[in-house]
This record gives sequence, structure tokens and C-alpha cells, in this order.
Amino acid sequence: MGTRELRDGFGRSITYLRISVTDKCNYRCVYCMPAEGVAARSHEELLSAEEIARFVALVAREGIRRIRLTGGEPLVSHRIVPLIRSIRVIPEIEDISLTTNGALLPRMADDLRDAGLDRVNISLDTLDPAQFSRITRLGRLEQAMAGIDAALAYGFHPVKVNTVVVRRLHQDALGLARLSLDRPVHVRFIEYMPIGNEETMAACRNEPHCPPGRSGASPELHPEAWDASDIVPSDELREAISAAGEAAGIGGLVPVDGAGPDGAGPARYWRFPGAAGTVGFISAMSNHFCSRCNRLRLTADGTLRPCLFSDDEYPVREALRAGDDGRVLDIYRTAIARKPLEHETADGTARFMSQIGG
Ligand code: SAM
Ligand code: SF4
Repeated sequence: MGTRELRDGFGRSITYLRISVTDKCNYRCVYCMPAEGVAARSHEELLSAEEIARFVALVAREGIRRIRLTGGEPLVSHRIVPLIRSIRVIPEIEDISLTTNGALLPRMADDLRDAGLDRVNISLDTLDPAQFSRITRLGRLEQAMAGIDAALAYGFHPVKVNTVVVRRLHQDALGLARLSLDRPVHVRFIEYMPIGNEETMAACRNEPHCPPGRSGASPELHPEAWDASDIVPSDELREAISAAGEAAGIGGLVPVDGAGPDGAGPARYWRFPGAAGTVGFISAMSNHFCSRCNRLRLTADGTLRPCLFSDDEYPVREALRAGDDGRVLDIYRTAIARKPLEHETADGTARFMSQIGG
């Protein structure tokens, strides 16, 4: 078994691969993709489950230890269960996690667990049913709540709840943080990031299924309308939640000793006194964690992205299809060697979050 450790040009050890298994989704969250959805890629453009698993087996020998499956919505992909099974048998892989909107989790949790999935993150931006439907455009709050219940019932551990905070959405952050009081869940608040851009939206509107001007004419929130004033810095939010907790008689947030539920991950954790779970903050914008970044992304169409915010990409699909393992590894090592030191802010990206794999 290979035990190589691959470091980038700045000495960071790359151990974590995030894989977008599909860019399709059953929701259309306002901050993530346009109302019309994203142009579907043809079947041939997407990596198959076998190709993804082959890639993971190769890079596992180069130091990858943890895999996150994401999208788009990974649970709308028919390949997800076989893919997890194939990754589970790769000896170097220690941890397989999945990020989901939770809607399909109640009916799939059993199969996912059986295939070898270790843990799940569920996205939930509000506890107000009407606001949930407005944000997701196609979703219902009870689906996400049933997803959280299923994750706990089927023994995934830890269960994390991810909330993207956008100032103009006025989400009830205390209400969401309170989910950690009697459930062993880790509610994490994520700063809103500039993903997608004017060109991304324009390209989408040029697709036949995107009527010209619809997204652009819409006054609602969408990736093209990202604005720095919509970022709520984690410190500000934590103080607000803590103060609201005290005012509500729950008590203020106290720091969690040690690393929290994800070891050296990007979140910082607090908890309410006596709570079953924790409250975390991911400050990708106000206090970025680039110096500790250990990750690489693989898009659904087989392209490596060393940095979420950089459009510098390294396609591996053709080399994978040709069965040229040496070439695949050359491209992989080049992508890691060129991983930028830190992200430049904030002109957006040439792909939507659903296409990169958030
Ligand atoms: N569909 C799955 C889900 O929603 O969990 C997985 C893919 S989604 C792209 C992964 C995460 O990215 C979600 O938690 C979502 O809220 C987050 N996300 C999407 N757009 C974002 C943005 N502009 N800034 C910060 N987080 C974003
Ligand atoms: Fe779909 Fe997740 Fe993006 Fe929402 S955040 S549109 S659920 S990919």
C-alpha cells in the first residue's frame, strides 16, 4: 500500500478530495444557481462511477485519505450508492462523507450506510417554511428536517448542519443554533461566498432552457447579484447569537475545548451550556483558512480545481478514459504544485457552486 504524502508548493499536505458527482440538483437555491437551473451536461461529459473510483484509487496512493461527495445534489445521482461502495474498498481511504440538501436522505440513508458512507452534512438555511421554499425555490422545510432525523437515526456521525448566512435574507440564526440544544448536531454558519459571475449567468441565459434576460431581470438574490455587503462576518454573527441566547435564558456560547467534531477542519466551534451539539463558524471570507487548506476538488466533468475561488483548472477526464494512469498522476501532481497560496477575493468564478462542488 502506498503511503506517499503529497505537499503543495507551500508545504501544505493534500489529504482531502471533494468530488462533485453531479451538477444536477432537485433545488435551485437563490445563492447557488439561477432559477432556470444550470445547463445539463451530456452523459459522455460526466465521469462515470468507475472513472471516479479509479481516480480515487490512484490519488489515495498519493496521500488522499478523506473523500467528500457533493454536487449539485449527490443523492439525485443514480451512481451514488455504487460509487460509495467502490471507494469504501480502497484501503487508504479513512473517511467518506457526503453533503446533501437532505430531501432524499430518509429514503436512501439505509443504502448509503450499508454502502459504507461515514457521515453527512445537511444544508439548512432557515426554519421558516415559507422562507425555506423561497430560498431553495423547489424545496420544503420538512424534507430537510426529515433528512436530519434520518441522519441521526441511521447513526451517521457526526451530523453537521450547514447554514449559508446572507445579510439580506435576515435568517433566524438563534433558531437554527438552538437545533444543537437537544440534538447531537453541529450547526455551522458559513459566510456567503462570491461564486458564479456575470459571465456565468450570461452563458447560462444563452442555453435554450434559460429564457434570455430572466435571471438578469430578476431583482431577487442570485449568484450574479453577490455583494460584499451580504457577508455577515462570523465574529459578528457569533456575538449576536450569544447575546440572543443569553436574552432567551439559554446562556451565551462558550468555546469548545480542542479541535471540535472535524479535527483540523475550517470551522471554529462553540456550544450553549449543557447542549447536546455545537455551533460552528466557517469564516471563508472574513478570516480565511487558506494557510491550512488541505483540499482539492474534482468536478463532475473530470476537472481538478486546486482552489474553490480560482478558475485555474486541470482536466483529467481524457487521461482517465485512455487508461493512462501515469498521465492522470502527472496532471494531479501539477494541480497540487500550482495550488495558490491563498484566494484572491471576489470577482466570482466561471462555474456555479453546484458545478464546482461546494
Ligand atoms: N446540494 C448539496 C447541498 O446543498 O448541501 C451539496 C452541494 S451545495 C453546492 C454545498 C454547499 O454549498 C451547501 O451547504 C450550500 O449552502 C453551499 N453554498 C452554495 N453556494 C454558496 C455560496 N455562494 N456561498 C457559500 N456557500 C454556498
Ligand atoms: Fe442544490 Fe445544494 Fe446548490 Fe441548493 S446549495 S441549489 S441544494 S446544489
